[in-house]
Amino acid sequence: MPDKVRVRIAPSPTGNLHLGTARTALYNYLYAHRHGGTFVMRLEDTDEVRSDESYTKDIFDGLRWLGLTWDEGPDIGGPFAPYRQTEKIDRYSHVANLLLEKGAAYFCFCSPQELEALKEEQKNTTRGPRYDNRCRSLTPQQKEKYVAEGRVPAIRFKIDEPRVISWHDGIKGEIAIDSSDLGGDMVIVKSNGVAIYNFAVVVDDIDMKMTYVIRGEDHIHNTAKQILIYEALGETTPSFAHPALIFDIERRKLSKRHHGELVHIDRYRQDGYMPEAMVNYLAQMSWSLPEDREIISLDEACRIFDLSKISKSPAVFDLPRLNWFNSHYLRDLPLTLVTDRAQPYLVEFSMEKYSRQQLEEIIACVRDGLTMLSELTEAVRFFFEDAVVIPEDVMNSVLSKESATKVLQAFYDQIPNLPFGDHAACKKAVDEIGKSLGLKGKDLYWPVRVAISGKTQGPDLGSIISILGKIRLSTRVDAAIQQCKQHA
Ligand code: GLU
Repeated sequence: MPDKVRVRIAPSPTGNLHLGTARTALYNYLYAHRHGGTFVMRLEDTDEVRSDESYTKDIFDGLRWLGLTWDEGPDIGGPFAPYRQTEKIDRYSHVANLLLEKGAAYFCFCSPQELEALKEEQKNTTRGPRYDNRCRSLTPQQKEKYVAEGRVPAIRFKIDEPRVISWHDGIKGEIAIDSSDLGGDMVIVKSNGVAIYNFAVVVDDIDMKMTYVIRGEDHIHNTAKQILIYEALGETTPSFAHPALIFDIERRKLSKRHHGELVHIDRYRQDGYMPEAMVNYLAQMSWSLPEDREIISLDEACRIFDLSKISKSPAVFDLPRLNWFNSHYLRDLPLTLVTDRAQPYLVEFSMEKYSRQQLEEIIACVRDGLTMLSELTEAVRFFFEDAVVIPEDVMNSVLSKESATKVLQAFYDQIPNLPFGDHAACKKAVDEIGKSLGLKGKDLYWPVRVAISGKTQGPDLGSIISILGKIRLSTRVDAAIQQCKQHA
């Protein structure tokens, strides 16, 4: 029987949750669910200087917001705990000793200055910087001398050359890497005892019984190095798949340095993007849905996800497309859910002014015009403010006309009779006024709109009238009529 599918996301908490990491997490999540497998969270936190708990929180919160929950992890435990690399130091040193005993690794006494000098020497060579494997063949006397000098060695893993390391990649197909492109023998444990990523990741993937490693294309050379470590340990490798990186439209890799907060998942949460839109967008960056479908739920994606359908070419980050998805979800998600999610954007308003049902009506009336929920605050402001502020230019262009005062007066007279609660009928009542005055279009609607919302554009007029209700309408229309008089 084949092994049960086990995949993982292994972020380093050295930065906030990046869009690319979220996409990798999504592909792993989908793969696990598609195959009835397990999705594991592992923290690669061995970079003592750059790792920070605030980043761990950001990463966990971001993935949970997207709905990408894990089955095992540092915060929830699991059969292969610990899931934090800093808690496995002894385990790594045990495995490093095995490699030393097998002769697959050796002590390297080179000081940082010596390595720097080597790099400097190689600067202008075509091969680029690489370790020259000088400590591979130290004599016992040389080693003793270094120890006597007080040098503490690192452990290096041997990378034999020439050799081709190849594998069938689940996305890229056949891959072959020349071992001479890997930079020479590699450090696996630093002199301070801390295991290096390429080594710790192999130990963890073995310990945690990973069957498939799906991670960004920037790890392809790491995969080649890691395959050599699996071999030296006599372990079978998991399968590998490397989705292509994400670029911007100028073909620059999407990075914090160039794109700032645009790569940070939490920015989208704060701006009021719907997680469903993010998931759709991330999923479809490199994966074409069958039959030209454009929208898919996470559950459905889990049922049909197919790693072999992920594109080999780079994904291009396209904000308008993400916005398209978001507008779709803002319109399409249940009104109660959108209203719940709208709360953070309404904190500056007094909620006593409307019932929950009226609030939902307000959201229903404006949501078609939104790209993200952070736009909501301005879109609904006029519903909540006591008095409408009519900008001077709007006043001059709309309310200074003689017909505007007539419309407003007629509308004011009708307010007691308006069919509040019925949006369409409220709109019809305005049309009736138009008929009796012989006015239509802008001449009819704009004065009413401006008087009650301060703007010439906005959501459905009948809805605004219906929601505002008798008292607010009377106050606003009366105030506008007074202003018209002053302008006359
Ligand atoms: N810590 C690595 C990263 O964040 C994980 C790479 C891997 O999945 O092996 O890129």
